[in-house]
Amino acid sequence: MPPESLPAFQQALVAWFQSAQRNLPWRRAYDPYQVWISEIMLQQTQVKTVLPYYERWMRRLPDLQQLAEVEESELMKLWEGLGYYSRARNLKRAAQQVCAEHGGELPRNVAELKQLPGIGPYTAGAIASIAYNQDAPIVDGNVLRVLCRLEALDAPPDTPALQKQLWQLAQEWIPSGQARWFNQGLMELGATVCLPRNPECLLCPVRAHCQALAQGRVSELPRPKARKAPTEVNKAVAVIRWGEALLIRQRREPGLMQGLWELPTVECPQNQPLPGLLEAWLHQELGTSAAPGALLQQATHRYTTFKATLHCFNVSLKPLPLPEHWTPVRQSNVAQYAFPTVYRKLIIQFFKKLLEDDPFLK
Ligand code: SF4
Repeated sequence: MPPESLPAFQQALVAWFQSAQRNLPWRRAYDPYQVWISEIMLQQTQVKTVLPYYERWMRRLPDLQQLAEVEESELMKLWEGLGYYSRARNLKRAAQQVCAEHGGELPRNVAELKQLPGIGPYTAGAIASIAYNQDAPIVDGNVLRVLCRLEALDAPPDTPALQKQLWQLAQEWIPSGQARWFNQGLMELGATVCLPRNPECLLCPVRAHCQALAQGRVSELPRPKARKAPTEVNKAVAVIRWGEALLIRQRREPGLMQGLWELPTVECPQNQPLPGLLEAWLHQELGTSAAPGALLQQATHRYTTFKATLHCFNVSLKPLPLPEHWTPVRQSNVAQYAFPTVYRKLIIQFFKKLLEDDPFLK
């Protein structure tokens, strides 16, 4: 953008944001804690999905001190269904660190913010600029799209050279002292007008400055990312009836789902017989033999980098003492536990089936 056009561009974007912004709860007070929580929830997740989670979170954990002290099980329950559960754990760890090292107040600058768990360059820039109105840049997916189109930047989005150029532009274009409005203007434009498909260029407040529009290249920019085929993962799942309940197990293995509850599950290497692996794993967990019976259900679930297929086998088990990370759950208690979404759906289905098959349980 020619330097002489920059002030008009900045002014058009800021004025548009101030009149057209969506009314969102974290934009009312610009409280740093609220901005931080909203930014973490909004990673990979749409605003309409986040809203009820955000409201519930703020009712239960209205400030950073309460987050620092919340029980892990309640934290997981508050996050249940949002996915990427490490985000919630990092929030709590960061809150504890802020209480210990910063007197309970989120730092104001990007360098200190980036020292906190779960806060990378984007989130640090968002907190510094949106909550504290510091002249700090942010580049997320929406900003990337807007900048690539405004400047007609034609390079694959994940190349380091383009990323560096975008962060530089995002820094240089901030009108001093107005980062809160300017940065949110770029994000809001990407979320509501400069859409990935069919952007509404006629309604765009900065169309006069857009190189992609001038060159007739809006639909080809930004260039799509090269997509890898997701890795396929097979899991064998034990559906174990325990009186009127089903057995569930809390995941102890490090990873995305650690701490969540699920139907007892073992991941299986490709081309291995699932029932045999499940039987061996159950023996290791419970110290007793239980041969898997009929395959009851298959379900697939896509994560960002892999696709999991869950093969659910009926397993009969004689009463025995359970390890502490195993427990029976009755239909009326399902809501007390935090499950990954795919397991919650399966458990609801299995209880429905149990009730159909066994009127005694009704
Ligand atoms: Fe995006 Fe169209 Fe505006 Fe250019 S004119 S920034 S492509 S909405």
